[in-house]
Amino acid sequence: MKNRRNYYRILHVQPDAPPAVIRSSYRTIMHKMRVHPDLGGDAEAAALVNEAYAVLGDEQKRADYDRIRQNPGWTRSANDDFRQGLVLTHADAHAPAPACAFCGWPVPPETPGEELTAFCRICHSPLAPMSRLVSHDADRRAITRVPKKSSLLVWTSCPQAQPYAGQVNDLSLTGMRFDTGVFLAAEQVLKIDTPVLKAVATVVRCTVREAGYEVGACFQNLCFARSRGSFVEARA
Ligand SMILES: [Zn+2]
Repeated sequence: MKNRRNYYRILHVQPDAPPAVIRSSYRTIMHKMRVHPDLGGDAEAAALVNEAYAVLGDEQKRADYDRIRQNPGWTRSANDDFRQGLVLTHADAHAPAPACAFCGWPVPPETPGEELTAFCRICHSPLAPMSRLVSHDADRRAITRVPKKSSLLVWTSCPQAQPYAGQVNDLSLTGMRFDTGVFLAAEQVLKIDTPVLKAVATVVRCTVREAGYEVGACFQNLCFARSRGSFVEARA
């Protein structure tokens, strides 16, 4: 959607104008253009008016447009996103990816009538890359703030009989630090589960601590839990 354009201004109506007023104003403008083509009524202007009416004249499209318009910075910086609560949009959560970042499972192409998968069917790690994360005003209410400290399970290979246990020390939108008893080499790809997120992450550093190691990892794929209590995709 060309959301930079002010469709309300193009149709000469207020942002809270009822549908009947928008329809009436649209008809008046188009009529004037036809009657007085020299009053700026060229094809380009008419196309713009039609474009504005196609959005504002449709209840759902108008609601979408309003939401984007009132929230122009809706794709925020990572930290802002984190503070305000995170979700994958439904569409994003089900967007296809070429292959699982953890186990390499080739994601099958979209089949009409079949739901796209958000999680790998082999290792159950999230398939949506970080770039698809957005913050939605509409979804914000449904999301509780993500706690930065929690327990953690980490896998280094697939299959792996038992995951390593750990404790999350800090969490941001781009990565996390956690304590664990096992040494994890830099560049190693991990599958991570915590009560609030599932992720595929790459080890950045591994530091020796009194009781084990502290690992810094940056996220490749990430999916946050919904406040309703389960992840977007519950199927295994
Ligand atoms: Zn996988």
